[in-house]
Amino acid sequence: MKVAVLAFLAPMSVLCQPLTQEELCRFATPRPGPIAAARESAPQVLLDLQNNEGLASSSNLFGLWPVTGSRVAQNAFAANCPEIGLEGIFYDPEYFATLTTPGSSRDWFKYFVFAHELGHIQNHHLSGLNSAKPGPVKELEADESAGFALAMMRAPIAAILAAVDKINPADIDIGDHPARCKRRASAIQGYNRAARILETPEFGFCGECVRAGAGTGMYVRAREIANGAAILPAAVQKCGSGPPPGDRPLNFEIDLAGFCAYGSLPADTVLTWENVGFCH
Ligand SMILES: [Zn+2]
Repeated sequence: MKVAVLAFLAPMSVLCQPLTQEELCRFATPRPGPIAAARESAPQVLLDLQNNEGLASSSNLFGLWPVTGSRVAQNAFAANCPEIGLEGIFYDPEYFATLTTPGSSRDWFKYFVFAHELGHIQNHHLSGLNSAKPGPVKELEADESAGFALAMMRAPIAAILAAVDKINPADIDIGDHPARCKRRASAIQGYNRAARILETPEFGFCGECVRAGAGTGMYVRAREIANGAAILPAAVQKCGSGPPPGDRPLNFEIDLAGFCAYGSLPADTVLTWENVGFCH
């Protein structure tokens, strides 16, 4: 039987080999009863998600196991443990106990990590009919669930996208983990699903990861382009419809090949003749 382990790969764990199902399930104890244990040990992040997203009693459906140790540090993993007939989430209890950062509001990254793992459970990724789905599809579905959950908690879209950027620094697909732009797009889809329920404005975006805000033009994708760096084709994307507002670069080969950034250009910046030019 093929084992199913869906690791979130927060930055800390990138250095580690993902835990195997067998390793995780060693932490799972069927007695005194995973359901009772889940209720007792439910971290605040899950309680908050339940309260705000209407996930009441969802912890009845799966196990929750606090795990200490460097390989679970500052992270959460979902796994299926057939030996005890239960799937569940294994998490670092200390990390998820505190949900604010000093001098700041909620630490939305922690909510995103947990909501993502919860998304694997809710979408039945670990067992049943969907077990044959390829990994990247599951990851994007879990990101959609996480974006939805955080939006229902009134997290700003910027915090949700920052969480995606933090967990996935790669701009290309790596193994089961899709490129950052794809994950941003899935999280935005979840955010917009919640926005339709909450009757709040949806987040407009273009392609996979660019916010379309300033009309037709070439936009910086998810990664900031540093001051003086060459403008590369993969770093920008044409977005918007209709005529551009004013004279601005619109075609990479004609307008931008061999050009560099004048000043640092954050994600979503629209390129103009002022912020790009010949490389020095
Ligand atoms: Zn995942």
